[in-house]
Amino acid sequence: MRFTHETLAQRVVFAPGEAHKAVAAEVAELGAAKVMLIAAPAVAALADRIGADLPVAVRHDEVVMHVPVEVAARATKAATQGAADALVCVGGGSTTGLAKAVALATGLPIVAVPTTYAGSEATNVWGLTEGEVKTTGVDARVLPRSVVYDATLTLSLPVEMSVASGLNALAHCVDSMWGPRADPIDRALAGEGIRGLALGLPAVAADPTGTAGREQTLYGAYLAAVAFASAGSGMHHKICHVLGGMFNLPHAQTHAVVLPHVLAFNVPAVPETERRIAQALGAPTAVAGLAALRETLGAPRALRDHGMPEEGIARAVAPILAAVPADNPTPLTEENLTALLRAAWEGSEPA
Ligand code: NAD
Repeated sequence: MRFTHETLAQRVVFAPGEAHKAVAAEVAELGAAKVMLIAAPAVAALADRIGADLPVAVRHDEVVMHVPVEVAARATKAATQGAADALVCVGGGSTTGLAKAVALATGLPIVAVPTTYAGSEATNVWGLTEGEVKTTGVDARVLPRSVVYDATLTLSLPVEMSVASGLNALAHCVDSMWGPRADPIDRALAGEGIRGLALGLPAVAADPTGTAGREQTLYGAYLAAVAFASAGSGMHHKICHVLGGMFNLPHAQTHAVVLPHVLAFNVPAVPETERRIAQALGAPTAVAGLAALRETLGAPRALRDHGMPEEGIARAVAPILAAVPADNPTPLTEENLTALLRAAWEGSEPA
């Protein structure tokens, strides 16, 4: 066994029902006296409760998906004008992304309080959009110093969004098994992440008002993001990135549709990984386990239902072939990739 694994330094606090206390403790630990609190209007009430225990100097609620540069610039200006010395973000990946943009420009530390299962809080990856072009990068300054998870903050996330966001987290785990920098530590974390998500998501769908399933799902989503930040984008994320960009497809649904096809495509070439995923899903095979989970959750099945045109299959082949890592477990050809995209497009069973 020969590999190099970098563990990102971050405090992680699970504080069910007590995010306000835990965030106040993390802010005190930073020695911060002028907090900029970032939260979208959709979670304003949750942020009010957390902000009540903090020295808030700036409150910012302009959050836009994929962090347009002008939105990032306004938030950075607000932080500077208010002389903020720490950032607290309460929300999903878009809100965490905005805090990261401010941290990138100012070096201010972040305390992240996630309210979805996107996992951005556990990565050192930032993203900014200028016009239609999204740029991403890696920078140590954007990794939140602390993350506070409180499952009660996710209770207001609708079931459909919870399922989509959770399957996006599951895709982080699966792709971490064969990403370009995947190592044995990533695979161990990803396996446990799959187990947590497979336990948690059906419980969220069955009882959206209960916290047990949501807590398991947050736990799985955190492990998923840690594994993915280390392993990097594999075949699954490359396909979703190309399709999402070309056809403006919804992020989470695209992941949910494509995942079973990539899983079925790759696992025959990696039997040990196949067994690990099957075991984590509590199923005889990985493919059967994911199919059963998706059935339970009523996951989306076909890209054509989400706006991908049929002629897009042929157009997407070349850019995907160029983007997928060369050491993907099953070698890609124009022919087998076309068949995979067609199956995902029409919603047929993964081959
Ligand atoms: P999001 O943050 O846009 O949230 C989706 C919607 O749910 C929003 O309208 C939001 O206001 C609402 N919402 C969030 N929490 C809620 C709650 N508890 N109750 C009610 N409504 C709530 O979506 P997302 O899926 O969390 O994040 C997606 C973004 O994150 C994408 O831009 C993606 O690229 C980015 N992302 C980045 C990384 C990274 O490592 N940099 C990782 C994962 C995702």
